[in-house]
Amino acid sequence: MTQQLNIIIVPHTHWDREWYQTFQQFRLRLVHAIDKLLDILDRDPKFSNFMLDGQTIVLDDYLEVRPEQEERLKKHTRSGRIQVGPWYLQPDEFLVSGESLVRNLQIGLQRAADFAKPMRVGYVPDCFGHIAQLPQILRGFGIDSAVFWRGVGPEAHKSEFYWAAPGGTQVLVIHLADALGYSNARDLPLNLEEFVTRVELLSAPLLSKATTNTLLFMNGSDHLEPEDGLPETIDAANKLLAHIDPELEKVLTRFGRLEQNGQVSDFDQILVRIGTLPQYIEAVRQHLERSPGTPLQTLHGEMRSSEYAHLLPAVLSTRMWIKQKNTATEHLLERWVEPLTAWAWKTGAPYPKGLVRQAWKFLLQNHPHDSICGCSIDQVHRENSVRFAQSQQISEGVVAQAMQSLVSVIDTRAPTNVHKPLAGQEPFPIVIFNPAPGPRTEAVQAMTQLPGSLKNAVVVDERGSRMPFHVVSRWRQELGSMPVPREMLATAVALQGMKAPGEFINLAQSTLVSMLGLSESDYVITRINVEEGAQAGVASVELMITRREQVTINQQELQASESRVLALMQREDINTLEFIIIDQARQTVDFIAAGLPAYGLKTYWIYPGGLQGEGQSQPSTDSSTGQEQRAVSQPPSIENEFYTVAANQEDGTLTVTDKQTGAVFTGLNRFVDGGDVGDLYTYCPPAHDTLISKPVEPPKIELVSTGPIRSIMRISGDWSLPTACSDTRTERSAHMTTCSIVSEISLTPGVHRVDIHTGVENDVKDHRLRVTFPVPYTVEHAEAEGTFEVRSRPIVAPRPADVSAWAEEPVNTFPQKRFVDVSNGTVGLGVLNRGLPEYEIVQDAPGQMAVAVTLLRCVEWLSRADLSTRRGHAGPMEFTPEAQCLGHQEFDYALVPHRADWEAEEALVLREAQAFNTPVRALATEQHEGQLPSRATLVEVEPRSLVVSAIKRSETGQGMIVRVHNPLSQAVEANLRPGFACTKAFVTNLHEEQQEQLFWSGVEDGSLSVGLRSGEIATILFQ
Ligand SMILES: [Zn+2]
Repeated sequence: MTQQLNIIIVPHTHWDREWYQTFQQFRLRLVHAIDKLLDILDRDPKFSNFMLDGQTIVLDDYLEVRPEQEERLKKHTRSGRIQVGPWYLQPDEFLVSGESLVRNLQIGLQRAADFAKPMRVGYVPDCFGHIAQLPQILRGFGIDSAVFWRGVGPEAHKSEFYWAAPGGTQVLVIHLADALGYSNARDLPLNLEEFVTRVELLSAPLLSKATTNTLLFMNGSDHLEPEDGLPETIDAANKLLAHIDPELEKVLTRFGRLEQNGQVSDFDQILVRIGTLPQYIEAVRQHLERSPGTPLQTLHGEMRSSEYAHLLPAVLSTRMWIKQKNTATEHLLERWVEPLTAWAWKTGAPYPKGLVRQAWKFLLQNHPHDSICGCSIDQVHRENSVRFAQSQQISEGVVAQAMQSLVSVIDTRAPTNVHKPLAGQEPFPIVIFNPAPGPRTEAVQAMTQLPGSLKNAVVVDERGSRMPFHVVSRWRQELGSMPVPREMLATAVALQGMKAPGEFINLAQSTLVSMLGLSESDYVITRINVEEGAQAGVASVELMITRREQVTINQQELQASESRVLALMQREDINTLEFIIIDQARQTVDFIAAGLPAYGLKTYWIYPGGLQGEGQSQPSTDSSTGQEQRAVSQPPSIENEFYTVAANQEDGTLTVTDKQTGAVFTGLNRFVDGGDVGDLYTYCPPAHDTLISKPVEPPKIELVSTGPIRSIMRISGDWSLPTACSDTRTERSAHMTTCSIVSEISLTPGVHRVDIHTGVENDVKDHRLRVTFPVPYTVEHAEAEGTFEVRSRPIVAPRPADVSAWAEEPVNTFPQKRFVDVSNGTVGLGVLNRGLPEYEIVQDAPGQMAVAVTLLRCVEWLSRADLSTRRGHAGPMEFTPEAQCLGHQEFDYALVPHRADWEAEEALVLREAQAFNTPVRALATEQHEGQLPSRATLVEVEPRSLVVSAIKRSETGQGMIVRVHNPLSQAVEANLRPGFACTKAFVTNLHEEQQEQLFWSGVEDGSLSVGLRSGEIATILFQ
């Protein structure tokens, strides 16, 4: 059977917004490229299509400096000649959160709609591998196909296949199977004969993988401009290709046949045309419909093969600070900004829509694969740092406003039925916000300005339960000082004839308070302290001022002090009176906030002088009691009701005992430092590596605090590390440099985690520093949180004996979100992190394995061609010294030993991982009435093991969105109970478009039930 081979050429450009040049430098080229595109489209009607890389930000970047071109550009987008969207920008998939990917598509599709009907193809041409949930995310936006290059391995037999996400939804994938991926038909020759030859050469490798008689030629590459004159060449070539001459046929019969169900098709003509990705996908679908006997494969899971194309997996640990800042900013937006602004809006505050959107945009602009991956020149990443800062500045401001607004509508009056304060002393409410699942217990630190010594102070919640409480520090702030000559002051006092008690105080009060720029009516002098002798001829008069409503003044004492000051004025031996104004004491206090509701808030009250009818109160302690001094002589260990943590005095590693299971984990928190002669993309140990896993001498171990709030142990070690790699890059240098590594390990009563904060003085180069956690058993799989899922991966990546032909060595380092867990079924160890996305499960001693989490990977070349672990360059060979990450670096991670596996105890590990990434926040306030109860939740979700990834105002402003996904291996019935007024609920897609109304009539009706398959994401709109 003979037939026609169709070729669709998609002219496009791949626009890395910033990479080996900065955004502004690349934009100069972008302006030139789009100017040229518009000229071509105006002039050549046969140049029918051009794809702007599936991302709308290039439109914004262009129009920002070419606003006068908007209508001309829109003429071509509206006519369908320029394809725009669906993304806002081309992200890395593994290093950003699921919600970031959702916002990326929301913003992209919305912006694309200003220009045209958006291109609904999941085009991610250059991403460094693909997450398993991409099909479900795309389908959530009505996108049923994906086109990409990297990550696909030999499991895909053809370049077309279905790809199913956890939860079951699937998309049709077009794999750009040519070695050049999205650039396979770049720079097509405009010379007719060369063009024809190129078409045949390019067809051959594609045909071997093709399912249909239509091939995809991607005519473009990184930052390439459109090829003027291409349609003319295509027209001429089609005449030649309409009848393949015998010479050419030889080439085509060698490669050019399509085998289907044992049937072989030979092509006797080729038709080339310019088209679009949607047209290509439509051609594939039509072919599949016409030939139902050729079912496509359905593949599952993530795509991380490095066989055919570079995967570049070590970007997970390049410039770790970017990953840390990104994770922090994502949590700030997703867990604080969106829920709190939405909640405040629900209680009557205006919604800061533009600010929230702008904070997201600054964050997303750091998500292109070359930005978040850390594989650009240094200047690019300095600019990333500024964008993180801008996103955080907006977010912190908006969160502070929302917290203030919410606190103002909470009924913060102390529960009078349980406790009564001492006469004249009012309790001070503090509201704690919890953005994670609950009920939750955490240590809280708050700044207060409370009267009295706080020796008898107590903290209670709404049921009167006492919370352990501790004053960390007390201090007074000097607000200002003024030296006044004694004689001058004495004359002034004499002239004014001050005799009555309090007259001088009143004068001083009005003079000094207004001198400080404070309102006279608000502040009063509450105490005067006179000191002499520090300096000859000078007396110091310390005046404490306090807000008027907060105090009862001891007038007798104050007037006695006044007399002492007046007496000073008669003293010939004194030249100067130094007036020093101080404010009331401030305190940093710690207390345990127990029973915090999920995604909610709870009020606690501090009674500064204690409670009526009680003498000394027991839980309150002051740091000056000397308790720590006694503790120092104890053995180096700390504990709470869940765990005991002891330090090994030889090497500083930790032994953690899980009191519930009896499991003992030893050798934890061991640092292992090895060489790295790779580049920003790929890890490469030197041929002769040296691993260092011990400090030079036994570390210093201190008990910093033994409670009652936090028990903290500090381990400080000096590490002698090779200064850099050798000149030949085959080993680490013999010259050593000392670097300090300090870990603070803390336990809190009621908190089911061992929290670890580590500071590293990184004064050496060309190395990789990991922290390891051995487990006393072996496993074949480990589970790590991924995007909208928890992914189980084998410890060792599948690897044939010979990988010499692979584009890159397969690696056993894998991506993680907030935790990785290794369990033997009876007990397990969860290792949580804040923004440390790379882990590996390594063989340790016999019978045990260890979780290794990368802290730093320090290299200084954007790309090198001499890596034993990768073939060829991955980018230009630019020098990037800042990727050595020299200087002080800090890391946060935590341990959760537990029974059974990660799903046990209502997914304790996953819940703690969320809590660990969102420390609670406190806001002190006054007592007042309000519409919200003192303990309130925005939404309650059962079972607690489900993950609520978004609580936000809907984009249209007509309701509240709650997004929940099921990471468990079983289907569950989710029960949602919103804490705000609503009467209707809808299932929506990820674009927040209503799909189906649920039978539910509002909060009064009880909780809303939604069935969730394993891996399913559900978005609910409450109205
Ligand atoms: Zn790229």
